[in-house]
Amino acid sequence: MNLCVTFKGGVEDVGSKFKLDLNKEPWFSSDEDGDGRPNENLALFVGTDDTKRNVVLGKKTFDDTKTPVMVLERRSKNYEGGLEGHKPNDIINIIRTEYGCDLTYSQAWESREYAVNEVRGIPENSYGKNTKVLVHDTRSESGGFYKGMRKVIVVDGTFLKNKYKGVMLVATAVDGNSNLYPIAFGIADSENDSSWEWFFEQIKVVIRDDKDLSFISDRHVSISKSLEKIYLLSTHGICIHHLIGNVITYHKGRGVADLVSRASKAYRVAEFEKHFGEICNISPVTGEYLEDAQVKKWVRCHFHGYRYDLNTKNAAESINSALRSPREYSIIPLLDSIREMLTRWFIEQRELSAKQKDPLTVKVENKISRRIGKGKYFKSYRIGRNILQVKANRVDFVVDLERRTCSCGKFQMGKIPCRHAIKGAFDICTDLYRYADDMYSPTSWREYYEETVNPIGIPENEWGVPDHIEAAKVLPPETRRHPGRQRKRRHETVEDKIRASH
Ligand SMILES: [Zn+2]
Repeated sequence: MNLCVTFKGGVEDVGSKFKLDLNKEPWFSSDEDGDGRPNENLALFVGTDDTKRNVVLGKKTFDDTKTPVMVLERRSKNYEGGLEGHKPNDIINIIRTEYGCDLTYSQAWESREYAVNEVRGIPENSYGKNTKVLVHDTRSESGGFYKGMRKVIVVDGTFLKNKYKGVMLVATAVDGNSNLYPIAFGIADSENDSSWEWFFEQIKVVIRDDKDLSFISDRHVSISKSLEKIYLLSTHGICIHHLIGNVITYHKGRGVADLVSRASKAYRVAEFEKHFGEICNISPVTGEYLEDAQVKKWVRCHFHGYRYDLNTKNAAESINSALRSPREYSIIPLLDSIREMLTRWFIEQRELSAKQKDPLTVKVENKISRRIGKGKYFKSYRIGRNILQVKANRVDFVVDLERRTCSCGKFQMGKIPCRHAIKGAFDICTDLYRYADDMYSPTSWREYYEETVNPIGIPENEWGVPDHIEAAKVLPPETRRHPGRQRKRRHETVEDKIRASH
Protein backbone atom coordinates (compact mmCIF):
# COMPACT_ATOMS: atom_id res chain seq x y z
CA MET A 1 0.00 0.00 0.00
CA ASN A 2 1.17 3.48 -0.78
CA LEU A 3 -0.46 6.66 0.28
CA CYS A 4 0.54 10.06 -0.88
CA VAL A 5 -1.02 12.91 0.98
CA THR A 6 -0.71 16.56 0.12
CA PHE A 7 -1.93 19.43 2.18
CA LYS A 8 -2.32 22.97 1.06
CA GLY A 9 -2.98 25.61 3.61
CA GLY A 10 -3.33 25.57 7.31
CA VAL A 11 -3.29 21.98 8.30
CA GLU A 12 -2.23 21.69 11.86
CA ASP A 13 0.93 19.69 12.09
CA VAL A 14 0.89 17.63 15.22
CA GLY A 15 4.29 16.03 15.21
CA SER A 16 4.64 14.76 11.69
CA LYS A 17 8.01 13.33 10.87
CA PHE A 18 8.14 14.34 7.24
CA LYS A 19 7.34 17.73 5.85
CA LEU A 20 7.55 17.84 2.14
CA ASP A 21 7.04 20.50 -0.44
CA LEU A 22 4.65 19.78 -3.20
CA ASN A 23 6.85 21.46 -5.75
CA LYS A 24 9.90 19.46 -4.85
CA GLU A 25 10.71 15.84 -4.53
CA PRO A 26 8.55 14.47 -1.76
CA TRP A 27 11.38 13.38 0.50
CA PHE A 28 12.68 16.95 1.01
CA SER A 29 11.57 18.85 4.02
CA SER A 30 9.23 21.65 3.24
CA ASP A 31 9.88 23.50 6.43
CA GLU A 32 12.49 25.69 4.79
CA ASP A 33 11.85 28.76 6.85
CA GLY A 34 12.61 26.69 9.90
CA ASP A 35 9.85 28.09 12.04
CA GLY A 36 8.72 24.61 12.91
CA ARG A 37 5.41 25.13 11.15
CA PRO A 38 4.39 23.64 7.88
CA ASN A 39 4.69 25.81 4.80
CA GLU A 40 1.81 26.79 2.59
CA ASN A 41 2.24 23.73 0.48
CA LEU A 42 2.96 20.71 2.49
CA ALA A 43 3.10 17.22 1.20
CA LEU A 44 3.21 14.21 3.37
CA PHE A 45 4.26 10.99 1.86
CA VAL A 46 3.23 7.87 3.60
CA GLY A 47 4.18 4.36 2.66
CA THR A 48 4.10 1.09 4.48
CA ASP A 49 6.49 -0.22 1.88
CA ASP A 50 9.74 1.75 2.27
CA THR A 51 11.19 0.80 -1.07
CA LYS A 52 8.29 2.46 -2.83
CA ARG A 53 8.44 5.51 -0.65
CA ASN A 54 9.92 7.72 -3.30
CA VAL A 55 7.26 7.15 -5.86
CA VAL A 56 5.17 10.24 -6.29
CA LEU A 57 1.76 9.20 -7.35
CA GLY A 58 0.20 12.49 -8.22
CA LYS A 59 -0.87 15.90 -7.11
CA LYS A 60 -4.21 17.28 -6.44
CA THR A 61 -5.63 20.29 -4.73
CA PHE A 62 -9.20 21.13 -4.03
CA ASP A 63 -9.97 24.78 -4.49
CA ASP A 64 -13.28 24.66 -2.76
CA THR A 65 -12.03 23.58 0.62
CA LYS A 66 -9.61 25.37 2.85
CA THR A 67 -7.51 22.40 3.80
CA PRO A 68 -7.49 20.08 0.86
CA VAL A 69 -5.86 16.75 0.88
CA MET A 70 -5.16 13.96 -1.49
CA VAL A 71 -4.68 10.31 -0.87
CA LEU A 72 -3.74 8.05 -3.71
CA GLU A 73 -3.65 4.32 -3.57
CA ARG A 74 -2.92 3.56 -7.14
CA ARG A 75 -0.39 0.85 -6.40
CA SER A 76 -2.66 -1.15 -4.23
CA LYS A 77 -5.39 -3.26 -5.64
CA ASN A 78 -7.92 -1.40 -3.56
CA TYR A 79 -11.09 -0.28 -5.30
CA GLU A 80 -10.49 -2.74 -8.10
CA GLY A 81 -12.57 -5.77 -8.90
CA GLY A 82 -15.24 -5.04 -6.33
CA LEU A 83 -12.76 -4.72 -3.46
CA GLU A 84 -13.76 -2.13 -0.98
CA GLY A 85 -10.41 -0.44 -0.41
CA HIS A 86 -9.91 1.96 2.47
CA LYS A 87 -12.89 3.71 3.92
CA PRO A 88 -12.58 7.39 4.92
CA ASN A 89 -12.21 6.38 8.55
CA ASP A 90 -9.37 3.99 7.67
CA ILE A 91 -7.62 6.80 5.86
CA ILE A 92 -8.04 9.10 8.86
CA ASN A 93 -6.57 6.42 11.12
CA ILE A 94 -3.65 5.67 8.84
CA ILE A 95 -2.68 9.33 8.58
CA ARG A 96 -3.13 9.83 12.30
CA THR A 97 -1.09 6.77 13.27
CA GLU A 98 1.68 7.33 10.79
CA TYR A 99 1.95 11.09 10.95
CA GLY A 100 -0.03 12.37 13.85
CA CYS A 101 -2.06 14.54 11.48
CA ASP A 102 -5.78 14.82 11.78
CA LEU A 103 -7.90 14.91 8.68
CA THR A 104 -11.52 15.85 8.72
CA TYR A 105 -13.97 13.25 7.53
CA SER A 106 -14.75 15.24 4.42
CA GLN A 107 -11.08 15.51 3.49
CA ALA A 108 -10.69 11.77 3.76
CA TRP A 109 -13.94 11.28 1.83
CA GLU A 110 -12.82 13.54 -1.05
CA SER A 111 -9.47 11.80 -1.11
CA ARG A 112 -11.05 8.43 -1.38
CA GLU A 113 -13.25 9.50 -4.25
CA TYR A 114 -10.24 10.88 -6.05
CA ALA A 115 -8.31 7.66 -5.44
CA VAL A 116 -11.16 5.55 -6.82
CA ASN A 117 -11.23 7.61 -9.99
CA GLU A 118 -7.45 7.40 -10.34
CA VAL A 119 -7.38 3.64 -9.85
CA ARG A 120 -10.08 3.19 -12.45
CA GLY A 121 -8.41 5.61 -14.83
CA ILE A 122 -11.24 8.09 -14.75
CA PRO A 123 -10.26 11.70 -15.33
CA GLU A 124 -11.56 14.27 -12.94
CA ASN A 125 -14.54 16.46 -13.85
CA SER A 126 -15.68 13.77 -16.20
CA TYR A 127 -19.39 14.17 -15.71
CA GLY A 128 -19.89 14.82 -19.40
CA LYS A 129 -18.05 11.63 -20.21
CA ASN A 130 -20.89 9.62 -18.71
CA THR A 131 -22.93 9.83 -21.87
CA LYS A 132 -20.00 8.69 -23.98
CA VAL A 133 -19.51 5.61 -21.85
CA LEU A 134 -23.19 4.88 -21.95
CA VAL A 135 -23.38 4.62 -25.71
CA HIS A 136 -21.14 1.57 -25.42
CA ASP A 137 -23.44 -1.34 -25.02
CA THR A 138 -21.66 -3.92 -22.95
CA ARG A 139 -24.17 -6.68 -23.50
CA SER A 140 -25.14 -7.45 -27.06
CA GLU A 141 -28.82 -8.08 -26.31
CA SER A 142 -30.89 -9.13 -23.35
CA GLY A 143 -31.46 -12.47 -25.04
CA GLY A 144 -31.19 -14.56 -21.89
CA PHE A 145 -34.46 -13.18 -20.59
CA TYR A 146 -36.32 -14.60 -23.56
CA LYS A 147 -34.75 -18.01 -23.26
CA GLY A 148 -37.46 -19.30 -20.96
CA MET A 149 -36.83 -17.21 -17.88
CA ARG A 150 -39.66 -16.46 -15.45
CA LYS A 151 -41.25 -13.29 -16.76
CA VAL A 152 -41.03 -11.45 -13.49
CA ILE A 153 -39.00 -8.28 -13.17
CA VAL A 154 -38.19 -6.90 -9.76
CA VAL A 155 -37.51 -3.15 -9.64
CA ASP A 156 -36.19 -0.94 -6.88
CA GLY A 157 -34.46 2.38 -6.36
CA THR A 158 -31.65 3.11 -3.97
CA PHE A 159 -29.59 6.15 -2.99
CA LEU A 160 -26.22 6.87 -4.45
CA LYS A 161 -23.68 8.11 -2.01
CA ASN A 162 -21.37 10.04 -4.31
CA LYS A 163 -21.08 13.78 -4.09
CA TYR A 164 -23.85 14.44 -6.61
CA LYS A 165 -26.37 12.31 -4.75
CA GLY A 166 -28.93 10.78 -7.10
CA VAL A 167 -30.51 7.35 -7.12
CA MET A 168 -29.78 4.10 -8.87
CA LEU A 169 -32.74 2.28 -10.36
CA VAL A 170 -32.41 -1.47 -10.76
CA ALA A 171 -34.45 -4.02 -12.68
CA THR A 172 -33.66 -7.68 -12.30
CA ALA A 173 -35.11 -11.05 -13.18
CA VAL A 174 -34.41 -14.30 -11.34
CA ASP A 175 -33.19 -17.27 -13.34
CA GLY A 176 -34.30 -20.91 -13.14
CA ASN A 177 -31.68 -21.55 -10.49
CA SER A 178 -32.85 -18.61 -8.34
CA ASN A 179 -29.88 -16.46 -9.29
CA LEU A 180 -30.22 -12.77 -9.95
CA TYR A 181 -30.28 -11.89 -13.61
CA PRO A 182 -29.99 -8.09 -13.84
CA ILE A 183 -31.82 -6.49 -16.75
CA ALA A 184 -31.10 -2.78 -16.37
CA PHE A 185 -29.49 -0.17 -14.22
CA GLY A 186 -30.40 3.50 -14.38
CA ILE A 187 -29.11 6.58 -12.65
CA ALA A 188 -31.46 9.47 -11.99
CA ASP A 189 -31.72 12.53 -9.77
CA SER A 190 -34.41 11.04 -7.56
CA GLU A 191 -37.25 8.53 -7.57
CA ASN A 192 -39.92 10.63 -9.26
CA ASP A 193 -42.46 10.17 -12.06
CA SER A 194 -40.15 11.24 -14.84
CA SER A 195 -37.18 9.13 -13.76
CA TRP A 196 -39.21 5.93 -13.34
CA GLU A 197 -41.00 6.63 -16.60
CA TRP A 198 -37.70 7.12 -18.39
CA PHE A 199 -36.34 3.94 -16.81
CA PHE A 200 -39.31 1.80 -17.91
CA GLU A 201 -39.11 3.28 -21.40
CA GLN A 202 -35.49 2.13 -21.58
CA ILE A 203 -36.39 -1.36 -20.34
CA LYS A 204 -39.15 -1.55 -22.90
CA VAL A 205 -36.54 -1.29 -25.65
CA VAL A 206 -35.39 -4.80 -24.68
CA ILE A 207 -38.37 -6.29 -22.82
CA ARG A 208 -41.67 -5.92 -24.62
CA ASP A 209 -44.99 -5.35 -22.92
CA ASP A 210 -46.80 -8.65 -22.45
CA LYS A 211 -49.72 -9.96 -20.43
CA ASP A 212 -47.46 -12.69 -19.09
CA LEU A 213 -44.99 -10.18 -17.76
CA SER A 214 -45.06 -9.10 -14.11
CA PHE A 215 -43.28 -6.42 -12.14
CA ILE A 216 -42.66 -6.49 -8.40
CA SER A 217 -41.76 -3.36 -6.47
CA ASP A 218 -42.50 -1.40 -3.33
CA ARG A 219 -45.52 0.91 -3.21
CA HIS A 220 -43.69 3.95 -4.58
CA VAL A 221 -46.41 5.88 -6.36
CA SER A 222 -44.18 6.83 -9.30
CA ILE A 223 -43.55 3.16 -10.04
CA SER A 224 -47.23 2.24 -10.36
CA LYS A 225 -48.00 5.41 -12.31
CA SER A 226 -45.19 4.80 -14.80
CA LEU A 227 -45.97 1.12 -15.19
CA GLU A 228 -49.61 1.89 -15.94
CA LYS A 229 -48.45 4.28 -18.62
CA ILE A 230 -45.72 2.22 -20.25
CA TYR A 231 -46.42 -1.44 -19.52
CA LEU A 232 -50.15 -1.54 -20.10
CA LEU A 233 -50.50 -5.30 -20.44
CA SER A 234 -48.23 -6.37 -17.65
CA THR A 235 -49.25 -7.01 -14.06
CA HIS A 236 -47.86 -5.12 -11.12
CA GLY A 237 -47.35 -6.77 -7.74
CA ILE A 238 -46.08 -5.23 -4.56
CA CYS A 239 -43.39 -6.55 -2.30
CA ILE A 240 -44.89 -8.36 0.65
CA HIS A 241 -42.01 -7.46 2.98
CA HIS A 242 -42.58 -3.82 2.17
CA LEU A 243 -46.28 -4.19 2.94
CA ILE A 244 -45.69 -6.06 6.20
CA GLY A 245 -43.12 -3.43 7.18
CA ASN A 246 -45.79 -0.75 6.75
CA VAL A 247 -48.38 -2.76 8.64
CA ILE A 248 -45.97 -3.03 11.55
CA THR A 249 -44.93 0.61 11.39
CA TYR A 250 -48.43 2.06 11.25
CA HIS A 251 -50.43 -0.52 13.15
CA LYS A 252 -47.99 -1.52 15.85
CA GLY A 253 -48.53 -4.21 18.42
CA ARG A 254 -51.50 -5.84 16.76
CA GLY A 255 -49.69 -9.06 16.03
CA VAL A 256 -51.23 -9.16 12.59
CA ALA A 257 -47.95 -9.27 10.66
CA ASP A 258 -47.83 -13.07 10.61
CA LEU A 259 -51.40 -13.21 9.37
CA VAL A 260 -50.66 -10.73 6.59
CA SER A 261 -47.73 -12.84 5.56
CA ARG A 262 -49.87 -15.98 5.50
CA ALA A 263 -52.69 -14.27 3.64
CA SER A 264 -50.31 -13.04 0.97
CA LYS A 265 -48.82 -16.49 0.43
CA ALA A 266 -52.16 -18.30 0.21
CA TYR A 267 -52.42 -20.47 -2.88
CA ARG A 268 -56.18 -20.77 -2.62
CA VAL A 269 -58.80 -18.05 -2.32
CA ALA A 270 -60.59 -19.75 0.60
CA GLU A 271 -57.34 -19.88 2.53
CA PHE A 272 -56.74 -16.19 1.85
CA GLU A 273 -60.30 -15.27 2.89
CA LYS A 274 -59.85 -17.05 6.20
CA HIS A 275 -56.64 -15.18 7.08
CA PHE A 276 -57.94 -11.87 5.80
CA GLY A 277 -61.09 -12.24 7.90
CA GLU A 278 -58.95 -12.76 10.99
CA ILE A 279 -56.88 -9.67 10.16
CA CYS A 280 -60.01 -7.53 9.82
CA ASN A 281 -61.34 -8.84 13.14
CA ILE A 282 -58.18 -8.00 15.01
CA SER A 283 -57.54 -4.69 13.29
CA PRO A 284 -60.11 -3.17 10.95
CA VAL A 285 -57.67 -0.34 10.17
CA THR A 286 -55.09 -2.81 8.89
CA GLY A 287 -57.78 -4.49 6.84
CA GLU A 288 -58.63 -1.17 5.22
CA TYR A 289 -54.99 -0.42 4.60
CA LEU A 290 -54.50 -3.79 2.93
CA GLU A 291 -57.56 -3.35 0.76
CA ASP A 292 -56.32 0.06 -0.20
CA ALA A 293 -53.05 -1.60 -1.27
CA GLN A 294 -55.17 -3.64 -3.70
CA VAL A 295 -55.52 -7.31 -2.93
CA LYS A 296 -54.69 -8.29 -6.52
CA LYS A 297 -51.27 -6.70 -6.06
CA TRP A 298 -50.13 -8.47 -2.91
CA VAL A 299 -52.05 -11.73 -2.61
CA ARG A 300 -50.58 -14.60 -4.56
CA CYS A 301 -53.87 -16.30 -5.43
CA HIS A 302 -55.46 -13.03 -6.55
CA PHE A 303 -52.52 -11.94 -8.66
CA HIS A 304 -53.45 -11.78 -12.34
CA GLY A 305 -50.06 -12.61 -13.79
CA TYR A 306 -47.41 -15.13 -12.86
CA ARG A 307 -45.08 -14.29 -10.04
CA TYR A 308 -43.99 -17.83 -9.15
CA ASP A 309 -42.48 -17.75 -5.70
CA LEU A 310 -41.31 -14.17 -6.13
CA ASN A 311 -43.25 -12.05 -3.70
CA THR A 312 -40.63 -9.59 -2.51
CA LYS A 313 -38.23 -7.10 -3.98
CA ASN A 314 -35.37 -8.90 -2.23
CA ALA A 315 -33.72 -9.68 -5.55
CA ALA A 316 -33.27 -5.99 -6.36
CA GLU A 317 -32.20 -5.27 -2.80
CA SER A 318 -29.52 -7.94 -3.07
CA ILE A 319 -28.08 -6.18 -6.08
CA ASN A 320 -28.11 -2.90 -4.24
CA SER A 321 -26.29 -4.41 -1.34
CA ALA A 322 -23.76 -6.15 -3.62
CA LEU A 323 -23.02 -2.65 -4.90
CA ARG A 324 -22.87 -1.02 -1.49
CA SER A 325 -19.33 0.21 -1.91
CA PRO A 326 -19.46 1.18 -5.59
CA ARG A 327 -22.57 3.26 -4.84
CA GLU A 328 -20.20 5.63 -3.06
CA TYR A 329 -18.19 6.10 -6.26
CA SER A 330 -18.88 8.63 -8.95
CA ILE A 331 -20.92 7.46 -11.91
CA ILE A 332 -18.35 5.99 -14.29
CA PRO A 333 -16.53 3.95 -11.65
CA LEU A 334 -19.96 2.79 -10.45
CA LEU A 335 -20.93 1.66 -13.95
CA ASP A 336 -17.57 0.05 -14.35
CA SER A 337 -18.05 -1.88 -11.11
CA ILE A 338 -21.50 -3.02 -12.24
CA ARG A 339 -20.08 -4.24 -15.52
CA GLU A 340 -17.30 -6.07 -13.65
CA MET A 341 -19.80 -7.68 -11.31
CA LEU A 342 -21.96 -8.88 -14.21
CA THR A 343 -18.98 -10.24 -16.11
CA ARG A 344 -18.03 -12.21 -13.01
CA TRP A 345 -21.58 -13.48 -12.38
CA PHE A 346 -22.00 -14.60 -15.98
CA ILE A 347 -18.77 -16.57 -15.86
CA GLU A 348 -19.71 -18.20 -12.54
CA GLN A 349 -23.14 -19.19 -13.81
CA ARG A 350 -21.74 -20.52 -17.06
CA GLU A 351 -19.37 -22.77 -15.10
CA LEU A 352 -21.98 -23.88 -12.59
CA SER A 353 -24.61 -24.68 -15.19
CA ALA A 354 -22.11 -26.59 -17.31
CA LYS A 355 -21.47 -28.91 -14.37
CA GLN A 356 -25.13 -29.70 -13.71
CA LYS A 357 -25.89 -33.25 -14.88
CA ASP A 358 -29.27 -33.69 -13.17
CA PRO A 359 -32.49 -33.06 -15.12
CA LEU A 360 -33.21 -29.75 -13.32
CA THR A 361 -31.18 -26.85 -11.93
CA VAL A 362 -29.47 -27.27 -8.57
CA LYS A 363 -31.95 -25.18 -6.57
CA VAL A 364 -34.98 -26.89 -8.10
CA GLU A 365 -33.49 -30.35 -7.54
CA ASN A 366 -33.09 -29.42 -3.88
CA LYS A 367 -36.63 -28.17 -3.72
CA ILE A 368 -37.93 -31.41 -5.23
CA SER A 369 -35.90 -33.49 -2.78
CA ARG A 370 -37.47 -31.60 0.11
CA ARG A 371 -40.93 -32.14 -1.36
CA ILE A 372 -40.28 -35.85 -1.86
CA GLY A 373 -39.48 -36.07 1.86
CA LYS A 374 -42.61 -34.18 2.86
CA GLY A 375 -44.92 -36.30 0.73
CA LYS A 376 -43.40 -39.64 1.65
CA TYR A 377 -46.35 -40.86 3.73
CA PHE A 378 -49.15 -39.48 1.58
CA LYS A 379 -51.55 -41.97 -0.01
CA SER A 380 -52.61 -41.63 -3.60
CA TYR A 381 -55.58 -43.08 -5.50
CA ARG A 382 -55.94 -43.03 -9.22
CA ILE A 383 -58.98 -41.26 -10.62
CA GLY A 384 -58.14 -40.99 -14.34
CA ARG A 385 -55.13 -41.80 -16.48
CA ASN A 386 -52.98 -39.03 -15.07
CA ILE A 387 -55.38 -37.73 -12.44
CA LEU A 388 -54.96 -38.71 -8.81
CA GLN A 389 -56.46 -38.05 -5.45
CA VAL A 390 -53.72 -37.53 -2.87
CA LYS A 391 -54.50 -37.86 0.83
CA ALA A 392 -52.18 -35.65 2.82
CA ASN A 393 -52.48 -35.21 6.58
CA ARG A 394 -56.26 -35.52 6.56
CA VAL A 395 -56.72 -33.15 3.61
CA ASP A 396 -57.42 -34.42 0.10
CA PHE A 397 -55.96 -32.91 -3.02
CA VAL A 398 -56.56 -33.65 -6.67
CA VAL A 399 -53.57 -33.72 -8.98
CA ASP A 400 -53.79 -33.56 -12.75
CA LEU A 401 -50.32 -34.33 -14.03
CA GLU A 402 -51.03 -33.67 -17.71
CA ARG A 403 -52.57 -30.27 -17.01
CA ARG A 404 -49.91 -29.65 -14.37
CA THR A 405 -52.35 -28.64 -11.67
CA CYS A 406 -53.04 -29.56 -8.09
CA SER A 407 -55.93 -28.34 -5.98
CA CYS A 408 -53.36 -27.08 -3.45
CA GLY A 409 -52.54 -24.41 -6.07
CA LYS A 410 -48.79 -24.69 -5.80
CA PHE A 411 -48.11 -26.82 -8.88
CA GLN A 412 -49.64 -24.42 -11.41
CA MET A 413 -48.35 -21.34 -9.61
CA GLY A 414 -44.69 -22.33 -9.37
CA LYS A 415 -44.56 -24.60 -12.43
CA ILE A 416 -42.72 -27.21 -10.37
CA PRO A 417 -44.57 -30.36 -9.13
CA CYS A 418 -45.88 -29.87 -5.60
CA ARG A 419 -45.45 -32.60 -2.97
CA HIS A 420 -48.82 -34.12 -3.94
CA ALA A 421 -47.97 -34.26 -7.62
CA ILE A 422 -44.59 -35.78 -6.82
CA LYS A 423 -46.15 -38.50 -4.71
CA GLY A 424 -48.74 -39.13 -7.44
CA ALA A 425 -46.11 -39.33 -10.18
CA PHE A 426 -44.08 -41.77 -8.10
CA ASP A 427 -47.05 -43.98 -7.41
CA ILE A 428 -47.99 -44.34 -11.06
CA CYS A 429 -44.32 -44.73 -12.03
CA THR A 430 -44.19 -41.79 -14.37
CA ASP A 431 -41.22 -39.50 -14.83
CA LEU A 432 -41.81 -36.55 -12.58
CA TYR A 433 -39.26 -34.32 -14.32
CA ARG A 434 -41.39 -33.87 -17.40
CA TYR A 435 -43.87 -31.96 -15.24
CA ALA A 436 -41.43 -29.22 -14.30
CA ASP A 437 -41.27 -26.22 -16.60
CA ASP A 438 -38.46 -26.06 -19.17
CA MET A 439 -37.13 -22.90 -17.60
CA TYR A 440 -35.78 -25.04 -14.77
CA SER A 441 -33.74 -27.28 -17.05
CA PRO A 442 -29.96 -26.99 -17.11
CA THR A 443 -30.23 -26.37 -20.88
CA SER A 444 -32.21 -23.18 -20.30
CA TRP A 445 -29.92 -22.27 -17.44
CA ARG A 446 -26.91 -22.50 -19.77
CA GLU A 447 -28.67 -20.51 -22.47
CA TYR A 448 -29.31 -17.54 -20.18
CA TYR A 449 -25.58 -17.07 -19.83
CA GLU A 450 -24.41 -17.73 -23.35
CA GLU A 451 -23.65 -14.09 -23.97
CA THR A 452 -20.69 -12.39 -22.42
CA VAL A 453 -20.66 -9.08 -20.61
CA ASN A 454 -17.91 -7.10 -22.20
CA PRO A 455 -15.82 -4.17 -21.05
CA ILE A 456 -15.16 -1.30 -23.45
CA GLY A 457 -12.14 -2.90 -25.02
CA ILE A 458 -10.70 0.05 -26.93
CA PRO A 459 -8.87 3.21 -25.85
CA GLU A 460 -10.93 6.35 -25.42
CA ASN A 461 -9.56 8.09 -28.52
CA GLU A 462 -10.89 5.27 -30.67
CA TRP A 463 -14.40 5.30 -29.29
CA GLY A 464 -16.97 5.65 -32.02
CA VAL A 465 -19.18 8.19 -30.29
CA PRO A 466 -22.03 9.67 -32.37
CA ASP A 467 -21.70 13.39 -33.04
CA HIS A 468 -24.76 14.42 -31.08
CA ILE A 469 -23.35 12.67 -28.02
CA GLU A 470 -19.90 14.15 -28.56
CA ALA A 471 -21.44 17.61 -28.80
CA ALA A 472 -23.75 17.21 -25.81
CA LYS A 473 -22.82 19.34 -22.86
CA VAL A 474 -23.61 17.33 -19.77
CA LEU A 475 -23.19 19.13 -16.51
CA PRO A 476 -23.32 17.61 -13.07
CA PRO A 477 -26.54 18.29 -11.16
CA GLU A 478 -26.47 21.28 -8.87
CA THR A 479 -27.45 19.32 -5.81
CA ARG A 480 -23.92 18.81 -4.73
CA ARG A 481 -23.83 17.22 -1.36
CA HIS A 482 -21.31 18.34 1.21
CA PRO A 483 -18.99 15.39 1.47
CA GLY A 484 -19.82 14.71 5.06
CA ARG A 485 -20.40 11.41 6.72
CA GLN A 486 -23.38 9.58 5.29
CA ARG A 487 -25.19 7.45 7.75
CA LYS A 488 -25.78 4.00 6.37
CA ARG A 489 -29.28 2.74 6.92
CA ARG A 490 -29.18 -0.36 8.99
CA HIS A 491 -30.75 -3.15 7.09
CA GLU A 492 -33.74 -4.29 9.05
CA THR A 493 -35.13 -7.61 7.96
CA VAL A 494 -38.80 -8.36 7.94
CA GLU A 495 -38.13 -10.98 10.57
CA ASP A 496 -36.70 -8.21 12.80
CA LYS A 497 -39.83 -6.19 12.27
CA ILE A 498 -42.14 -9.08 13.03
CA ARG A 499 -40.15 -9.79 16.17
CA ALA A 500 -40.25 -6.16 17.25
CA SER A 501 -44.01 -5.99 16.73
CA HIS A 502 -44.78 -8.74 19.20
ZN1 LIG B 1 -50.37 -29.98 -4.46
